[in-house]
Amino acid sequence: MTGRTFTVVGGGPVGSLLAISLARHGYKVGLYEGRPDSRKTSIYQGRSINIALSDRGWASLEKIGIGAEAKQQSIPMYHRAIHGVDGEMSELPYGQEGDAIWSVSRGGINEQLLDTAEEEPNITTYFELRLMDIDFETATTTFRSKSADELTVAADFAFGADGANSKVRRLAYGLHRFSYSQTYMPQCYIELNIPANPDGSHRLEKNALHIWPRKDFMLIALPNPDGTFTCTLFLNYSGDPSFESLTERSAVEAFFTANFADAMDLLEDPVDTFMQRTAAPLFLVNVFPWSFNRKVGLIGDAAHAIVPFYGQGMNCGFEDCAELDVLIGKHNHDWDQIFAAYENARKPNGDAIAELSKRNFVEMSDLSGDPRFQIRKKIEAKFSDCHPELWTPLYSMVTFSPDIPYSEALRIGDIQNAVMERIMAIPGIDKDWDKPFVMDRLFDLTSEFLETRQ
Ligand SMILES: Cc1cc2nc3c(=O)[nH]c(=O)nc-3n(C[C@H](O)[C@H](O)[C@H](O)COP(=O)(O)OP(=O)(O)OC[C@H]3O[C@@H](n4cnc5c(N)ncnc54)[C@H](O)[C@@H]3O)c2cc1C
Repeated sequence: MTGRTFTVVGGGPVGSLLAISLARHGYKVGLYEGRPDSRKTSIYQGRSINIALSDRGWASLEKIGIGAEAKQQSIPMYHRAIHGVDGEMSELPYGQEGDAIWSVSRGGINEQLLDTAEEEPNITTYFELRLMDIDFETATTTFRSKSADELTVAADFAFGADGANSKVRRLAYGLHRFSYSQTYMPQCYIELNIPANPDGSHRLEKNALHIWPRKDFMLIALPNPDGTFTCTLFLNYSGDPSFESLTERSAVEAFFTANFADAMDLLEDPVDTFMQRTAAPLFLVNVFPWSFNRKVGLIGDAAHAIVPFYGQGMNCGFEDCAELDVLIGKHNHDWDQIFAAYENARKPNGDAIAELSKRNFVEMSDLSGDPRFQIRKKIEAKFSDCHPELWTPLYSMVTFSPDIPYSEALRIGDIQNAVMERIMAIPGIDKDWDKPFVMDRLFDLTSEFLETRQ
């Protein structure tokens, strides 16, 4: 035992994982969640929201010993299944054979982490206590209960793991030299559902992430173990078409029929759901520093809310926890050093995955339906197979290579992009893409670029 205490605000996936890691280093942790305990109440109202977990996330879960169990309740997705507007389908693998991203239940992972946290003797969990205030000099926090009682909690340190709308972060806005910005994306989203077949099987291919790319908007579907798919429609907030312009039932119906004809027979009441639900906004948060007075830190979405187009938000938050875990050992519990090292190590990576995620909307919603983009992906995959020492595709660096920091993936990805622009400009590349001279040219260009841009 170190004898020192932590308050973790937010019992979401990142707060729960952080609490486990701190407790295993000998700290006494109070984990405070504003909402009711989802294991005892039906706060999800039977709706299964799933997300894609990949190697960075799995590495963190394996580290605390729950990776294998979590994987059993998850579904591997080996490729994108792309639905053309005419109903034509194509496939685009995520990586090499066997590489997969995994569809996991967001609530399920959170509950598994809470169960694991509660097995730790050093952790006490509290629900229905919302943070109202924090003293950034002392890490003393004030919470309010459902019955409006106030509770003041003293601790040596505190972390805000309270998500994209973090109260801890908002309270820090008044602090000296705290930089912050919040940027809304043009797109908002609603969730839709594809029910299971009567026998419980999936109505679309199970081991794929389905995408209906339509340039300015898209529909995606991720499988659940119960045979259903959770779908997300990303559409602009304003303009045409948009959540703002589609207000008449007939127009919504026409929109779905024109753009997602093959999904219309599968989706459960898409038009009614569209009419009834309020579209949720997507925004990016960029702040610095991520720690205050070496007493209070920010972690997960509270530090770096990003857009979901790379499927990395939770993966990145889990990686924050893994980095802290290493730094606690490295700096022998000296939190002056740990906070500084943590934000210096993670901030460039948070920025990089924010940028990559923004860019990936274009890749998902536009390019994955574009034949030239698919050729480009095939060239990259073939070259990477022949010269793995020279080329790991950007998607694989981000998703399947936890040893490559996001910031490095972004840097190398920009070099690859410049190279591929030159390759795709070769006359006749659409038909000649698998000829040996293309690989030779790619080899020369890559070697040259890597040498000059090290
Ligand atoms: C549409 C969509 C799709 C996504 N898809 C993916 C994906 O495929 N892959 C991926 O890795 N990520 C994805 N994400 C991102 C992922 O959901 C988040 O990165 C992740 O949930 C962040 O975890 P967190 O614990 O930091 O925050 P949250 O999950 O937001 O948890 C924060 C917790 O803090 C609690 N809280 C808030 N305020 C207070 C308060 N004042 N007092 C006490 N408690 C409080 C909340 O109730 C909540 O339980 C997606 C996000 C969205 C919106």
